[in-house]
Amino acid sequence: MPAERFDHFMARANALYYENCDPFTDFITAPELTQVFGEIIGAWAKIIWRMMGSPAGPILAEAGPGRGSLMSDALRAFPEAEPHFIETSGRLRAAQAKRVPNATWHEDLETLPARPLIMIANEFLDALPVRQFVRRDSGWVERYVENESYVELPAAPELREAPTGSVREINEAALSFCKRLAARGGLGLFIDYGPMRSQAGESVQAIKAGQYASPLTAPGTADITAHVDFEAIAAVTHSQGPIKQQQFLTRLGLFERTNLLAQNVPDRAHGLRMAAERLAAPEAMGSLFKVLFICPEGFPIAPGFE
Ligand code: SAH
Repeated sequence: MPAERFDHFMARANALYYENCDPFTDFITAPELTQVFGEIIGAWAKIIWRMMGSPAGPILAEAGPGRGSLMSDALRAFPEAEPHFIETSGRLRAAQAKRVPNATWHEDLETLPARPLIMIANEFLDALPVRQFVRRDSGWVERYVENESYVELPAAPELREAPTGSVREINEAALSFCKRLAARGGLGLFIDYGPMRSQAGESVQAIKAGQYASPLTAPGTADITAHVDFEAIAAVTHSQGPIKQQQFLTRLGLFERTNLLAQNVPDRAHGLRMAAERLAAPEAMGSLFKVLFICPEGFPIAPGFE
């Protein structure tokens, strides 16, 4: 097989992975930790809808919904919304249908109905493929994959000059997704792993059964992700944030809601409080995860982004 550009390799490997593996045995995500995560996002989306002027027929679309837990929890707080999923994996679509049977599925955002749209996505952009460039003495090269190893071919990316040895990643799929959402007037809440500001360096990682693995061996057996470059997304859209997940969730009442729920279900109280801690603690998910809100220019400051 000829050398395959890294982003093409990553797209192919992840499509295989999400079609054939159960990602939730390899890693745990916020909506799987506690129902309060999805309830907060649903309540937030409902406030955003009111801020839009409560237009008729609102769509709550989720990109990369995994098991469908986030949407199913969010709809309890925002029952006026019609659920739509953007999901490429047939296997995960079946799992989502069990939790949200009245959803409509899409391959991409282009087929969403032309109606008032609020998009939500947790750990979606990080699964989209990145191109990787390395600065060598001779100039920039791009990484390709051949026989489970990297090979480098000359490239001319639009990148700022950088010292020899620097690695830069560009997530064209994420940039395109967010630009197309903004272009059709959609609003979007994106929660993902990544730094506040663009950073040089390699962030691609592969996780297999909870352990780091090589992204290049046995494509389709590990989940490959890259940190999300929120600054790059903010540069091509209008947005609020990014802010830390900790700020977003605590400002929207993570601990208050958790305590209320814990009082009603005492046998789950400990687990619920532990999950809330894990989502908000700076040394856990609270500061690694950031939240970016894509919205039209002039949109009022959204709850949590004050
Ligand atoms: N949001 C979920 C799952 C995250 S895993 C959670 O927080 O638990 C990533 C999800 O994105 C999976 O549902 C996967 O199938 C989906 N996905 C990955 N690449 C995609 C693509 N190009 N288009 C649509 N969905 C994709």
